[in-house]
Amino acid sequence: MMAEKGTISINAENIMPVIKKWLYSDKDIFVRELVSNGCDAVRKYQRLVQLGDAQEDGPYRVDVVLNEAEGTVQFKDNGIGMKAEEVKKYIAQVAFSGAEDFLAKYKPDEGESGGIIGHFGLGFYSAFMVAKKVVIDTLSYQEGAQAVRWISEDGMEYDMTESDRDQRGTTITLYMNDDEHDFLKLWEMRSTLEKHCGFMPVEIYLSEVKQPEAHKEGEEPKEDAESAKPQEPQKINDPQPLWLRKPSDVTEEEYREFYHKVFHDYDEPLFWIHLNAEYPFNLKGILYFPKIKNEFSASEGVIKLYNNQVFVADNIKEVIPEFLMLLKGAIDCPDLPLNVSRSFLQNDGYVKKMAAYITRKVADRLVSEFNNKRDDYQKYWDDIHPFVKYGCIKDEKFYERVKNAILYKTTDGAYLTLEEYKAKNCEEGKDAVLFYASDDKRQAQMIKLYTDQGKDVVLLNTLIDNNFISFLEYAERDAKITFRRVDAAAEGLTEEGETDETMRLALEKRFRDCTGDQELEVQLKSFKDEDMIAMITVDEQTRRFSDMSKAWGRDLNLPEKRTLVLNSKHALIGWIAKQDSDDDARDVCRQVVDLAEMARQPLVAERMVEFLHRSNLLLTKIVNG
Ligand code: ADP
Ligand code: MG
Repeated sequence: MMAEKGTISINAENIMPVIKKWLYSDKDIFVRELVSNGCDAVRKYQRLVQLGDAQEDGPYRVDVVLNEAEGTVQFKDNGIGMKAEEVKKYIAQVAFSGAEDFLAKYKPDEGESGGIIGHFGLGFYSAFMVAKKVVIDTLSYQEGAQAVRWISEDGMEYDMTESDRDQRGTTITLYMNDDEHDFLKLWEMRSTLEKHCGFMPVEIYLSEVKQPEAHKEGEEPKEDAESAKPQEPQKINDPQPLWLRKPSDVTEEEYREFYHKVFHDYDEPLFWIHLNAEYPFNLKGILYFPKIKNEFSASEGVIKLYNNQVFVADNIKEVIPEFLMLLKGAIDCPDLPLNVSRSFLQNDGYVKKMAAYITRKVADRLVSEFNNKRDDYQKYWDDIHPFVKYGCIKDEKFYERVKNAILYKTTDGAYLTLEEYKAKNCEEGKDAVLFYASDDKRQAQMIKLYTDQGKDVVLLNTLIDNNFISFLEYAERDAKITFRRVDAAAEGLTEEGETDETMRLALEKRFRDCTGDQELEVQLKSFKDEDMIAMITVDEQTRRFSDMSKAWGRDLNLPEKRTLVLNSKHALIGWIAKQDSDDDARDVCRQVVDLAEMARQPLVAERMVEFLHRSNLLLTKIVNG
């Protein structure tokens, strides 16, 4: 073969600047591209061996070799190699025609990083993002093939000559740009390789060529000082990731080990789902339910997406429904068009169906845990419930699947489904009302009023619960299910029947005067608990709005509709009704209101100070007569 010069065809002048710009933010993907080319070359050779067209000649491997002194990174493989024509065809004539159409179609959106679109069949050229010169040295497996050397300094023009290489395979040498020398550092390259190539299908090794130390005057030259010394290669990847194995062949221990290693989480996962489908989607992966330490910190989860064992990106919300991001996992989808822009993924029917399929699998697994291992399920319900509730709110189809596996924890520590709660606590034929507490300590007094009557009170005390119950009331509007906080109404705690309206009006006036609140609504009811003097109820809906506005960090100071309910059977109420508005009666009224308030939440600031002061006065009066 004669030495030859050429120009890389198909508008390389147009493509190179685009590649450099697109990929600018994710430069390290050249590592993924060149290592995956090496793996591809090895796999092709293995395939030929299988077909009987080549000799078994392992062990097969890809080596990444750093040489800081020379400023080079090398990618070496013992795959099929290339003949001169192949280098020209696959490397020099950028591997597809219509490159311009392609670029026009899959142009990234404004402000989008190249992360997801790096993989677009121009993989080899990503080398020019970081290198000022690229050399390919390759020998094809084919008998009598001549080894070739290909050199290009800009990705647009090249020189090609014969090479004296005698080993089958390819070595790509990158002479790194001066400002890309970080890639020559062992730890930097190792973490890049682990991220992108951690599960590629051929063994990958990283090593470093150390220059001999400079010979100092007066010292004997060290042994071996003549030659640069390659260090012991470090193994990078797991070529047989767990997700590719048959679920029935994988032990629990292996699942746990994989979890700790891949997600660097030393807590134990709660349980996991091994997705292993050929149909309707070619999809493999493992999703773990982590112990969620902090509600709403979505950053806890991470779902790594792979395309045939090549890492693509973390947490691509176009493919994985957002609420699943609370999970940790790896998903490998060989058929996804991952080489395209995000807006394309968003609108792609196949991607949508696959996201729905993953959601369904997660829901089915929850239901099967509930049906088959209810004891375990109850144990980790406290960990998973924010995730389940968030999923229900986000995706009604998910809700429809898991709804019978949603549990309500009672203040007595039991876990009930909605049906179980209704069967125990609600009269048949009547609309179901679930009583709940949002704070079992503060609301202990109100909770007791219900539990004393044998009614269960469920605990809904996380941020998401407010949204969740509003969602549920809406989703179950036909079944008429209502959630009511223990301080929301007095109905269940009082007898039905007429009250004395004249007395009620008189008391209303008295309490309005002494609280200074002329809007205060006062009801007079006969309480089931005879010793209780009064309670304050707060309208459920207005209170929820107010709570939500606080949860969003914007306290709109929304008015809560409050009612003072007085026990008509209690002697003190009868006494108040008979008093003129003297100071004693006034203090007693205020004390009654404060006590009622304290049953649902602590008094704050001045109100607490006044309450304590008034309590002292009243006690002193009793003693002094
Ligand atoms: P793709 O891998 O998507 O085909 P690339 O630009 O990464 O695109 O590579 C172009 C082609 O060059 C490959 O399809 C392959 O034929 C050839 N090639 C690249 N690297 C190697 C290698 N290490 N060994 C053998 N052939 C290679
Ligand atoms: Mg490639």
